[in-house]
Amino acid sequence: MSEKKDCIVCQKHSGKISLPGGIIFENDLIAITHAHLLDEETQHYLGHLFVETKRHVAELGDLTEAEAREAGLQVCRAAQALKRVLGVEHVYAFYIGDGVPHVHIHVIGRYPGAPREYWGAKVDEWPDAPKGDEKAIAALAEQVHAWLEANPA
Ligand SMILES: [Zn+2]
Repeated sequence: MSEKKDCIVCQKHSGKISLPGGIIFENDLIAITHAHLLDEETQHYLGHLFVETKRHVAELGDLTEAEAREAGLQVCRAAQALKRVLGVEHVYAFYIGDGVPHVHIHVIGRYPGAPREYWGAKVDEWPDAPKGDEKAIAALAEQVHAWLEANPA
């Protein structure tokens, strides 16, 4: 593959960074993972998935047609899984790409009761939102994996 040594997404895909729950889904073009703990975190928002290209590519506009189709499908699959597994009432999908130049689309559930001021890109800042440590993230990743397996596209 077109792995880049200093890219965190490439390192996740090649197993050089340990990922709670591992890779939830992958095929030749796309991988789905759950966000892992950031350096200063002991808990992370539960229900924050990434749909990532397997190829190291920075811009949405540079995806091949096959990658673009598969990314779209897997964003929808990830959203379905979050709804069914976590009971979230809404799922956001967004691409930013300012920090890590390897296409990763955030797919994040919004839990019932989340106050309006936390809707949108700030949904994971709601203090009462379910958060979990590595073990909880790994357990959720396993549930999402199982749902996707049981409900093939
Ligand atoms: Zn990369």
